[in-house]
Amino acid sequence: MFNRFPKHERNLFDKLAAYLAPSDLDELRAVLDFAEVSHAGQVRRSGEPYITHPIAAAEIVADYRLDKATLAAALLHDVPEDTDRTLGEIEERFGQEIAGLVDGVTKLSQVRLKKNWADVYPKVAAAGDRQENFNSFDRHVETLRKMFLAMSQDIRVVLIKLADRLHNMRTIEALEPEKRSRIAQETLQVYAPLASRLGIGTMKGELEDLSFPHAHPDEYHALKQLVFREYRKRVRYIERVRRILLKRLAKIGLRAEVHGRAKHMYSLWKKLTRNDDNLAKIHDLVATRIIVESVEECYQVLGMVHRMWRPLPGRIKDYIAFPKPNGYQSLHTTVFASGGMITEIQIRTRQMHYFAEFGIAAHWAYKEQPDEAPQTLLARVKNRLVGTSGHHVEWLEELAKTGQAISDPAEWRKGLTLDFFQDRIFVFTPNGDILDLPSHATPIDFAYAIHSDLGDHCTGAKINGRIVPLSYQLENGDIVEIMTQKKTSPRRDWLNLAKSSKARAHIRRAVN
Ligand code: MN
Repeated sequence: MFNRFPKHERNLFDKLAAYLAPSDLDELRAVLDFAEVSHAGQVRRSGEPYITHPIAAAEIVADYRLDKATLAAALLHDVPEDTDRTLGEIEERFGQEIAGLVDGVTKLSQVRLKKNWADVYPKVAAAGDRQENFNSFDRHVETLRKMFLAMSQDIRVVLIKLADRLHNMRTIEALEPEKRSRIAQETLQVYAPLASRLGIGTMKGELEDLSFPHAHPDEYHALKQLVFREYRKRVRYIERVRRILLKRLAKIGLRAEVHGRAKHMYSLWKKLTRNDDNLAKIHDLVATRIIVESVEECYQVLGMVHRMWRPLPGRIKDYIAFPKPNGYQSLHTTVFASGGMITEIQIRTRQMHYFAEFGIAAHWAYKEQPDEAPQTLLARVKNRLVGTSGHHVEWLEELAKTGQAISDPAEWRKGLTLDFFQDRIFVFTPNGDILDLPSHATPIDFAYAIHSDLGDHCTGAKINGRIVPLSYQLENGDIVEIMTQKKTSPRRDWLNLAKSSKARAHIRRAVN
């Protein structure tokens, strides 16, 4: 019906036609029409029609070949918050699955880095001496990351939100500078690490590089100056290495792809700060990547490379035998290559390469291997999300239990739920601080978590501006404001309402 943005629309549907059935395309056209009508008349800060943003987010989702419901939700993701259309209308027209995803994405817009931290952090980071501030900043962002996952519930919600943020970062120049800095910090601290934990290497790299100039402008410009000439030199050098390698590979009868890969600016900056800012110590500023068909060929090529050029001791990394926590696999070696220049070479199969770029999204898209058992897939997701550090163990056990209950991998993959946070909820104070409470917590738990005085005198609460009784069960994302009266004191029946041990201990002491 509407066709006012034919170019954007055509690009999207070209991508979709490559992997969806014609009937799916028809459904998505109807979804797009609805989104277009809903956003009619709205423009982005850049002056472009608003609908170009959801279309672009859907295009990113299509690059990862996600399913129809995820695409529909990407097209609709800003409708409930930014237009007159409601979530109810979306559910009525397009069903519960799509509405559920849209609702998840809408809720996530509350997960925001506090503005004062965005201002303070670059200065603290530059000074590098206020450990205490670092720690509370780290605590704040770790809570945000957990909260992000807890509120997402379905992994597809996370992927849509990442696509949304990626497009916003690609167009961030249109915003005013202060806003850019906060959003760039938030992207570096919350979004890029999540993309990384999900193994989506392409997205992590792009999010970081788009944020870097806005989050740390001085450092970014200094680094650009520093590496510009060195970088060009190494690109030319790698081209020579590439030709030599191709010749050798042909000689031993291996069909392989060889290309140069420039290190992302942000990860280069992080690495340099760990290496006394000495560029000579960075051997993968431009690295060579060799892609082969099988694992045997990976080791065969490693042997070939080591016979051609002497490896640096201690620099051979076998991530095939020992994958990184997020599932990354590859062989890395650093050699004295042609002319004695030290350079890194990465060797991997096509499939490893694919998983390194697509990560968790690959589980929807990758059709060439038999379905994994849910437990295996689950273990992979688990490692990606929470890493292997010890203090996350309770979540892991929850997650493992979920996996055992599901026998059909396709069904499980469809709605990859993240209910391993089911024992915790995340709520806000009126000024945006986040509290992490046991699930089924009530305003009493909230009040005592802030201060025992607030707990002792609480009479009720406002949740998202609406007055509720003390028995109200808090939900993820609630904004909680406690109402107090001086003459109120704790009552024995509060013990039936309080869930946290801190609140219960205070109440017990007061009533006895
Ligand atoms: Mn959006």
